[in-house]
Amino acid sequence: MTVARKIDDIMIKSSWIRKMFEEGARLKAEYGAGNVFDFSLGNPNLPPPEQFNEILRDTVDSCGLGDHCYMPQAGYPQVCVSIAEYLTQEQGVPITCDEVLMTCGAAGALNVIFKALLDPGDEVLTPTPCFVEYRFYADNHGGVLKMVGTRPDFTLDLDALTEAITRKTKIVLINSPNNPTGQIYDKASLDALGAIIDEKSSQFGRTIYLVSDEPYRKIVFEDARVPSIFQSYPQSILATSYSKDISIPGERIGFAAVNPAATHKQDIMAGMALTNRILGFVNAPALMQRVVACMQGMSVDINEYQRKRDLLCEGLADAGYTFTTPPGAFYLFPRTPIEDDVAFVKALQQELILVVPGSGFAGPGHFRIAFCVDDQTIVNALPGFRKVMQKYQ
Ligand code: PLP
Repeated sequence: MTVARKIDDIMIKSSWIRKMFEEGARLKAEYGAGNVFDFSLGNPNLPPPEQFNEILRDTVDSCGLGDHCYMPQAGYPQVCVSIAEYLTQEQGVPITCDEVLMTCGAAGALNVIFKALLDPGDEVLTPTPCFVEYRFYADNHGGVLKMVGTRPDFTLDLDALTEAITRKTKIVLINSPNNPTGQIYDKASLDALGAIIDEKSSQFGRTIYLVSDEPYRKIVFEDARVPSIFQSYPQSILATSYSKDISIPGERIGFAAVNPAATHKQDIMAGMALTNRILGFVNAPALMQRVVACMQGMSVDINEYQRKRDLLCEGLADAGYTFTTPPGAFYLFPRTPIEDDVAFVKALQQELILVVPGSGFAGPGHFRIAFCVDDQTIVNALPGFRKVMQKYQ
């Protein structure tokens, strides 16, 4: 066998997701991309804020000798300073550049954190439904992803979490606003979670870390707010990026930030600088570091996503779908009217609608609609959604 057994196994197991993509490509080739309603990818469709191109051009124009060279593994110190200043306001705790490490997106941040913290067999506990890649990220570094269900509205089930933390748990990983549900965890539940992890850490005589994956933090609707984990639990680390909120996922830029109150803060930062290097990232992209340093607090027009969410939710509710209206991110996770979510997704494909089965996110009986698409795609897909619902009602 050419490909490593583990990779081959992953490819086989995820082959039905691949089949969905292949089927999507076939449908687009046969019917024309414009006639296929593709809600399968979380690829932001809004352009970056208008300042982005100007800042990018200015940054390129001002490049001097050495500006494309290697740098400290944590990133340019002046970039970490501007991020720390912004984070201090956002998180409500004083953060310095010594607690910030620039990464290749949130995915890079999570891998850097996991490699720095996990010993073989350590468990990463995460509420489900969850981002499909977490299992691979934990496994990349000898960890094991353990999943624990949430409540029907996808808020944290604190009793289930308490039960699920074992002496092998090293990290509790949360994602808020959540992919695929759009749910946000409120301050009371984060405070309670912090207290639970603290108690379990004492019980098992090891520090259990709370890692929060937050690339959708700025994509929130109406008066929704994303509380800071730093205020809820000292042994905590943030992983995030500019992929979704300023629509630059291809540029691979994000950061990790360690709670200034974390007991072993310096060791963790030093460990992460090393893992950033030895994972082969070396450092986050130089040009993009300098660009995002000038874009603190900016985002795409969130009202656009809110309008798309409302258009979709209204249309689907009218067609008989049931769901929790997402307070953030750009995903809707409705229930399927039949148990078999893969069969339901295939029925939607017959109407040229591409969505992802909930099973792919450990959320069976649901499906994920990424509504980061043109309004017309939503409007034109609604009759197909209605027709398939009628078939099963
Ligand atoms: N975490 C979640 C929950 C995501 O949905 C994604 C991307 O879709 C990522 C992490 C990775 O983001 P990035 O592009 O910043 O690596």
